[in-house]
Amino acid sequence: MTKPPSRDVEWVMRALARAITGLEMPIVEKIAEEQREDAFQVLIATLLSARTQDATTAAASGRLFARAPTSRRMAALPVREIAALIYPVSFYKTKATHVKETCRILNTDFRGRVPGTMEELLTLPGVGRKTANLVLILGFRSLRNICVDTHVHRISNRLGWVRTKLPEQTEQALYANIPARWWPALNLYLVTWGQHVCRPTHPRCGDCDIAARCPRVGVTTVGKPRT
Ligand code: SF4
Repeated sequence: MTKPPSRDVEWVMRALARAITGLEMPIVEKIAEEQREDAFQVLIATLLSARTQDATTAAASGRLFARAPTSRRMAALPVREIAALIYPVSFYKTKATHVKETCRILNTDFRGRVPGTMEELLTLPGVGRKTANLVLILGFRSLRNICVDTHVHRISNRLGWVRTKLPEQTEQALYANIPARWWPALNLYLVTWGQHVCRPTHPRCGDCDIAARCPRVGVTTVGKPRT
């Protein structure tokens, strides 16, 4: 496919920067902001957030960090206690195992610190490219990564910026098609927009600040405007 004109990308990203002001931020962004970009808390919160509502992730993260704020203290907790603390996040038993093993590896291989490279992050259990990219962006202020979750994947396709089937393909296509200055902001802008306006089903196209530059690829039914 051909690249979207950079003036369109520029227009959309500037419009989104204005439009998301005042909207509830995605939970991991909020934790990163509140914890001064603590990479450990960003990593654990992102692990907990997969397929889980933000409010549930926020409450679970709060309970877990209150009990064990560091990788050493979290590694000392039994898996059963971690599971009880993070319940009811989805797959809480598997995530509890991943959290415990991740903390063990951080302590044995990385002196208790979160590693700052994609290759090292991918050695941690339960960490895929989405989590690793978000940790690099929010925990290490990387300007060279794009974090693609389901919202970023869906909206990038609806905007016609990419034509892809899988988030991994979307990540690579966005590196090729979007000017690098917008890479670190893409996740915050598109996830926030996806949670409030460009929802998975029934996107609110009639109430969308970027509708003028959106071809709505694949959109068949739209929802009611926000009240
Ligand atoms: S116009 Fe519709 S499909 Fe396009 S970004 Fe807005 S809500 Fe999503």
